[in-house]
Amino acid sequence: MNRLLLVSNRLPVSIEKRKGEYQFRQSVGGLATGLRSVCHSYKTTWVGWCGFPRDKLDAKTIREIELRLMTEVDSFPMFLYKKDIKRYYHGFSNRTIWPLFHYFTDYVVYDNELWESYVKINNEFCDTVVKIADEDDVIWVHDYHLMLLPRLLRERLPDIPIGFFLHIPFPSFEIFRLLPWRKELLKGLLGADLIGFHTYDYVRHFLSSVRRLLGYEHTFGQVSAGNRIVKVDAFPMGIDYERFANAMEEPETRREVSRLLKKKGNRKIILSVDRLDYTKGILQRLESFDLFLDKYPEYKEKVTLIMIAVPSRTGVDTYFQLKKKVDELVGRINGKHGIIGWIPVWYLYRSLPIQILTAFYYIADVALVTPLRDGMNLISKEFIATKSDTPGVLILSEMAGASAELGEALIVNPNNKEAVADKIKEALELSPEEQMARNREMQKRLRRYNVVQWSQDFMERLSAFKKLQAKLLERKLSLEVKKRIINDYQKSTSRLLLLDYDGTLITFAERPEKAQPDYELLKQIDALARNPHNEVVLISGRDKETLDRWFGSLNVGLIAEHGVWYKERGAEWTTLEPMRSDWKDEIRPILQLYVDRTPGSFLEEKDFSLVWHYRRTLPDLAEVRVRELKDALINLTENLNLGVLEGNKVIEIKSPGITKGVASLRWISKKEWDFILAVGDDLTDEDMFRALPEGAYSIKVGLSPSQAKYTAESVGEVRLLLKELEREDYALSGGL
Ligand code: UDP
Repeated sequence: MNRLLLVSNRLPVSIEKRKGEYQFRQSVGGLATGLRSVCHSYKTTWVGWCGFPRDKLDAKTIREIELRLMTEVDSFPMFLYKKDIKRYYHGFSNRTIWPLFHYFTDYVVYDNELWESYVKINNEFCDTVVKIADEDDVIWVHDYHLMLLPRLLRERLPDIPIGFFLHIPFPSFEIFRLLPWRKELLKGLLGADLIGFHTYDYVRHFLSSVRRLLGYEHTFGQVSAGNRIVKVDAFPMGIDYERFANAMEEPETRREVSRLLKKKGNRKIILSVDRLDYTKGILQRLESFDLFLDKYPEYKEKVTLIMIAVPSRTGVDTYFQLKKKVDELVGRINGKHGIIGWIPVWYLYRSLPIQILTAFYYIADVALVTPLRDGMNLISKEFIATKSDTPGVLILSEMAGASAELGEALIVNPNNKEAVADKIKEALELSPEEQMARNREMQKRLRRYNVVQWSQDFMERLSAFKKLQAKLLERKLSLEVKKRIINDYQKSTSRLLLLDYDGTLITFAERPEKAQPDYELLKQIDALARNPHNEVVLISGRDKETLDRWFGSLNVGLIAEHGVWYKERGAEWTTLEPMRSDWKDEIRPILQLYVDRTPGSFLEEKDFSLVWHYRRTLPDLAEVRVRELKDALINLTENLNLGVLEGNKVIEIKSPGITKGVASLRWISKKEWDFILAVGDDLTDEDMFRALPEGAYSIKVGLSPSQAKYTAESVGEVRLLLKELEREDYALSGGL
């Protein structure tokens, strides 16, 4: 890797004009703080908006700022006009995505003009990145402002490694689906090679939206998105642990600590720090504190809540309203409970430099971190890290991503004010030994997976995944491999050909009647099957009657219903073991319900399985119904010990232990074949690939992770290969 291009909405510094001079100031916030540490690990150029409207800048000033940013902080600035800042940033990013992804659906604005501006600015980011990117750079795009960027970049830089990390929650499908532009956002993200979220819950939500809205399946977080694969995983963002653990080595922090300790006296300090944002649950927190003082009046005069609220998005009306409400509520609580010499809530509406903030962490007895929804929440981690040699209790909302890692904290539902009030009391009464013991556990984790580890982990996974993609590409059926297959075929005299049917020999058809084998195909199979050196087996999920009708007259072996039935050449249909089918009475009504609710779908009843077909259903509706049906079946099929197979436009429920693999083994183990070729296209064929011996050739149709050695691009490519085998055969037998 030559260089890392970090792309985020804002640069880590913002520009301010003071006394006619442009000055740089470090930005506050989880993303900026965290990524600054990443820059120390790699040669980095940071691309982002400089925070100053372009309208006020002439071309000369722009060039000056560009130059200063590049030389002083390795950053390449974007300049945005006021109108765009209003629509793309304050608008679509902060009034549409932000509230929606934090489950504040009432605050969401759906406005096409804002969306168009979002598209436009994402394109502008793309232009800038393309302008400065080199071939061997790695691009890492950050956060919700730039969700279209990975795809835009992919179109212009097809091979460059692109990572994306979302710093906010990814909401459940039920919430995400509300967005009119939901598919565009998903497709935008899928332009990346690796997509990272803070928690596995967000990963699950994303994958389920991708499956339900785009129909892309995934295996262990690997999404097959058309002709590409994309990896999705959780990377809980860490902090610069040592900096907080060694906070007292900083003279400024030490000075502030002793100043604060004098002020603190014998009182206990409860600390609350956040950007003033409705997702942070500040009002609810204040109400809980009010309730705490009502419920446990013995604590009056003995505790003080220090509330640091960092000004944020002051241009957005909801934030202005929130500020007013917080001001009022703080006044009301102080008026209600305060007495001369004791103010219950100290309220600071400003941003503090990190050296001062850590002093607050250090002297606080309790940190009250109760967001209603938070992607991660670094404050909670920083507080625990700072408590390396002194006790302190973290009360943490279960709605913060950090709660997945900080299980030893006092975890609370921020909407339950009674519970929060009680937790405050519990925290104040927890013994110092217990506090230190809990914190030690969390500190171990935070020290290990710090922000450097987090970014390295992400970058390593990105590079490993790029290698995997390359390997998949290598597995494409090249001319050379085809020649080798043909060559080995010619040399051998006992050959087994295991061929899946739908999606492998015939393109998947919308109407089942169109899926009948065409004359050309029958001729090809017949020619291969007539060869005395060959044994051809057609393996299908279809029922035995259909297979008989289509292929009964050919000299081939048949496997029906994904392995339930099999038929040797010239023999009768046999089943592997006596199977139960009494479970069908329980499953049939559910499938029938889906048939009733889904025009164009139908139910097929085979001897030992039930199949719901939806190839004639409107694709959009089918996608939705398939996901619903699979969810509905999961519990039932587990209880009944059944298998659910998803084939091409079918969902099949059948007894477990019956797979194409088990069925094909009957042929594989029949004798010492000197040539085996197996071809398939969907998940049910993986069992067949797994059952193959070492030297066998296996081909999967479609680029996605598979047990098969090679991938073919299409049915056409498979048929061409079979044709060539047949032709070679014909030539060898003296036909030419
Ligand atoms: N922060 C700061 N000064 C302040 C308040 C906060 O530097 O006065 C920093 C804090 O150290 C933390 C970040 O801002 O790293 C807040 O991150 P968090 O994930 O908690 O919230 P976000 O602002 O990203 O929603």
